[in-house]
Amino acid sequence: MFMYALSAMPGSVSTISNRELRLAARPRGLPGPNVWELTDEEVPEPATGEMLVKISHISLDPAMRGWMDDVRSYIRPVALGEVMRAPAVGRVIASRHPGFAEGSWVTGLFGVRQYALSDGQGVRIVDPHLAPLPRYLGALGITGLTAYFGMLDIGRPRPGETVVVSGAAGAVGSIAGQIGRLLGARTVGIAGGGEKCQWLTDTLGFEEAVDYKLGNVRRALRGAAPDGIDVYFDNVGGRLLDDALAVLGVGGRIILCGAISQYNTGERVQGPANYLSLLVNRASMTGLIVFDYEDRYDEATDQLLAWLDAGALIAREHVVRGEIDAFPQLLLDLFAGASTGKLVLELV
Ligand code: NAP
Repeated sequence: MFMYALSAMPGSVSTISNRELRLAARPRGLPGPNVWELTDEEVPEPATGEMLVKISHISLDPAMRGWMDDVRSYIRPVALGEVMRAPAVGRVIASRHPGFAEGSWVTGLFGVRQYALSDGQGVRIVDPHLAPLPRYLGALGITGLTAYFGMLDIGRPRPGETVVVSGAAGAVGSIAGQIGRLLGARTVGIAGGGEKCQWLTDTLGFEEAVDYKLGNVRRALRGAAPDGIDVYFDNVGGRLLDDALAVLGVGGRIILCGAISQYNTGERVQGPANYLSLLVNRASMTGLIVFDYEDRYDEATDQLLAWLDAGALIAREHVVRGEIDAFPQLLLDLFAGASTGKLVLELV
């Protein structure tokens, strides 16, 4: 077992173990407790070119559900027995890597575990003085970057156009809608429940919010976008996508960011029946994978940080404190809509 001096207690040496959450079985539908296995491993020792990260915050993402399926996708599936993949933030507590000094805070795909060994690939240094650490998993992490590139590269709303965002009170949606507003568009958010809808209009500056749980979303969208939807930022898919297609305007752009309504059905994905709306309206529907923009992450992060500092962009993190074993239930909570903004597990 690797022995190291805890930085909080100079001079002391602790023997510790590394609790990890592994994928034990492939889920059908929602990932219940039977798909996970908790293990205690030795804390690894960094070799030359590696660093050891003590993880402080772990991200909860709907995309994780897709990573658990053994299907061809934009990223390889998590293998059975492998530690669950997850973006995380942590502190470098031992380093034999020239680019990462001990004591630095970093973010990367470290996984659901207490300690991660890393060769620095895909790892970024973050500054806790510039923003709270959980924000590097939200507005300044993959979710903020997704909103930024989806809206600026694919949606490209012009001033006065109408932007509709589904999953609007979530991590990606809340940032995407605000970026639409910052670009001069009228923004309409779709979310579940009055409280989330009120947050969108009263705090985030959305023009209107539609509570999909009340039903008749199509009629509500027709009222909110009487000239048709110019940009639809889709996080949900399924019936809401069909409703948006029915209200699409000429030249409309749909950003296919995600389809959370389809991830846990255990059945075939429900595709859009109204797809001929794309033909009629000379519209487009474009898939977005944030990882394709890796070489532009710095540009986006600088802009997101500038908006946050200026108070033009509001970010909200829903931070739950717990141990590694809190992760499975939190993932279920995410799909149940229990969080507003970005859901993060802070390790105690
Ligand atoms: P999130 O929105 O913070 O959390 C999930 C939210 O989805 C829930 O709070 C819930 O809100 C809503 N939801 C759950 N089931 C639903 C259903 N059946 N119908 C309608 N809404 C439902 O998650 P996020 O991290 O921001 O992710 C949003 C989407 O972006 C996901 O589809 C994800 O896969 C996608 N994504 C894509 C990329 C990419 O590169 N393409 C990158 C990151 C994320 P309500 O209470 O409002 O129902």
